[in-house]
Amino acid sequence: AAKRGGRNAYAIFDPTMSMSVLEEAQQRADLEHALEHDEFRVLYQPVVDMHTQRLTAVEALVRWQHPRDGLLGPYHFIAGAEANGLIVPLGRWVLRQACAQLARWRAERPEAAGLKVNVNLSARQFQYAGLVDDVSAALADAGLDAASLTLEITESMLMADIEAAKETLHALRRLGVRLAIDDFGTGYSSLSYLKQLPVDVIKIDKTFVDEVHIDEDDVALVDAVAGLGQALKMQTVAEGIETDEQWETLRRIGIDHGQGYLFGRPAEPADIAALLSAETLSDPQHV
Ligand code: C2E
Ligand code: MG
Ligand code: MG
Ligand code: MG
Repeated sequence: AAKRGGRNAYAIFDPTMSMSVLEEAQQRADLEHALEHDEFRVLYQPVVDMHTQRLTAVEALVRWQHPRDGLLGPYHFIAGAEANGLIVPLGRWVLRQACAQLARWRAERPEAAGLKVNVNLSARQFQYAGLVDDVSAALADAGLDAASLTLEITESMLMADIEAAKETLHALRRLGVRLAIDDFGTGYSSLSYLKQLPVDVIKIDKTFVDEVHIDEDDVALVDAVAGLGQALKMQTVAEGIETDEQWETLRRIGIDHGQGYLFGRPAEPADIAALLSAETLSDPQHV
């Protein structure tokens, strides 16, 4: 029957197909509604100096305060927003929010003078022709210097179209923003391309951190990335540090910065302001 009716009949009569089309349309409408009605929020997770344990940066992490389902993490909606394109306006909103928030902390607290903010970019945002203008406008409107902003991209985004990625990275670099490779080690970076890219920071994925205190193979891998960072003059950040043992091991290896529940979960702006004057963030009271 599908054959006789051609493509349209397939779209109409296949129940799984029409369900997913409906669901997609519904999700798009929900996300659009949420953007218009200010249902998104940004939380900020501490990034600390591995030696002093002082706060050096925060990563902006988006949440959806859903009127019925409660607080939703990115896994509930980022992929959908990426598929339907709404990630571009949503990502722009997060970027503008994060820049404005850093400017606010700085206005309120002298200790925030050196604080930086990290913002994740999605693949679609990274390919979007208006990205550089969006970033430049977000910085200007917040009155923020470009060097205070670090944009996080993943290896797959870089390797999908290396020439285009290189051009975008250089345009962002000309603005003066810093660039980080997120989830490093989970993708397929080519070392020869990595060398040519204007990247400032390598964020080592949590999967290498989880057992680094007990698994010699993970020690060797993280050690290799630390060496890579040193050779390419890129800073290293370890993600997902939860225990003192992991922190000790990573510090010994020579990782520069750390992020994880040990130092703090994603938090409201007011909670971050309180951490600015903290002597150390490895105290479990802050977690
Ligand atoms: P990511 O950029 O790698 O961010 C780190 C994720 O690891 C965050 O999850 C953070 O809460 C979590 N995390 C940090 N430390 C620990 C730890 O010690 N233990 C554990 N179990 N988890 C830890 P979150 O906030 O759920 O975000 C997940 C991902 O969603 C992010 O991974 C990022 O890829 C994406 N994402 C978040 N916000 C945005 C955004 O504004 N735009 C885009 N495009 N993607 C975003
Ligand atoms: Mg990230
Ligand atoms: Mg990551
Ligand atoms: Mg991730």
